[in-house]
Amino acid sequence: MAYKVPFVDARKHYALYKEEIDGAIHDCLSNGDMIYRRHLREFEEHLAAYVGTKYAIGLNSGYHALAFALMGVGIQPGDEVITVAHTFVATVSAIIHAGAKPVLIDVSEDYNMDLDQLEAAITPKTKAILPVHLNGRVCNMDRLMAIADEHGLLVIEDAAQALGGRYGDKRGGSFGIAGCFSFYPFKTLGGFGDGGAITTNDEKLAMYARRIRFNGEDRETGEYHHHGFTALLDNVQAAVLDVKLTKHFDNWIGHRRAMADRYRQGLQGVGDLRLPHFSDPKNWDNYQNYVIRTKHRESLRAHLKENGVETLVHWARPMWDHKGLELGTPDLPETASISREVISLPMSAELTPEHVDIVVATIKAYFERA
Ligand SMILES: *Cc1c(COP(=O)(O)O)cnc(C)c1O
Repeated sequence: MAYKVPFVDARKHYALYKEEIDGAIHDCLSNGDMIYRRHLREFEEHLAAYVGTKYAIGLNSGYHALAFALMGVGIQPGDEVITVAHTFVATVSAIIHAGAKPVLIDVSEDYNMDLDQLEAAITPKTKAILPVHLNGRVCNMDRLMAIADEHGLLVIEDAAQALGGRYGDKRGGSFGIAGCFSFYPFKTLGGFGDGGAITTNDEKLAMYARRIRFNGEDRETGEYHHHGFTALLDNVQAAVLDVKLTKHFDNWIGHRRAMADRYRQGLQGVGDLRLPHFSDPKNWDNYQNYVIRTKHRESLRAHLKENGVETLVHWARPMWDHKGLELGTPDLPETASISREVISLPMSAELTPEHVDIVVATIKAYFERA
């Protein structure tokens, strides 16, 4: 069915930037630049400068950014890594594939790691903390880094949803030893397929990531330093991402923030809704997602769908419910209740004020009828 308000609109996005995107692709293809060329290096430089780190290393996915960051800082079998269950499964899979044990703790009402519960989860085996900056909101990194420093723990940030988001005057992905980004098409900075990157100030980690993505080879010397993977960010993806990052990205975030504000004005006080606006003045969110909570999720979603508004749910079941993931049954009440209550409303750089007004009016009509 054709939605009046689609969740995102990939065709409109392409139509708006077609000339520049086609130009970037054409530039690569006509010069035969496919793998590890100028466009990749340029994008990495621009990304590092944007995030505020010395290095950025382009990879084929956000998952590999997480996995290589964990491996690169020396996480090993027997180690524990503390993270949250309310995240995309890749966060936890990366810890498992590094051979370590994920220790899952609960989130607060702002969907990020509940730092009141962090210290109690630290054991002699804990090596790292892996906070997730969910929905484009950076965790309270002043407090998290202080706890990590006190206990001598590494911090690897899952910043897959948080490019451009800030805590205080620093951007997500620049606090810990590594920041991990994803350029999946519907992230705030999206390619036309999978992509990702690690950001870091650590020269050793940067060198490790550059080699591990290229089968262990040092491209300058031809030396294979260890067994690696084939996991480069494709040159053509990098060229397209570079155009988007350097020419449009800040405008897109500004637009998302304006649309989030319009949702807030329209939906404040409506029904039992809880909106994603929280009190910490140090947060500057990118609104990767605009997530609301209600006890009437299923019927409200059905009403929105009947009226042409597409919504998604991130995520409908707690991760540990998927028995194949073998995560046991942790007691994380906030995560469990979030899983029952959240709806992600349409949000993207292409969303218009008129779209937001339709969504708001549809939601208001639902609660007036009820
Ligand atoms: C998208 C995402 C990832 C992984 O990204 P891929 O590029 O799809 O591998 C990891 N963590 C979070 C929170 C994400 O949203």
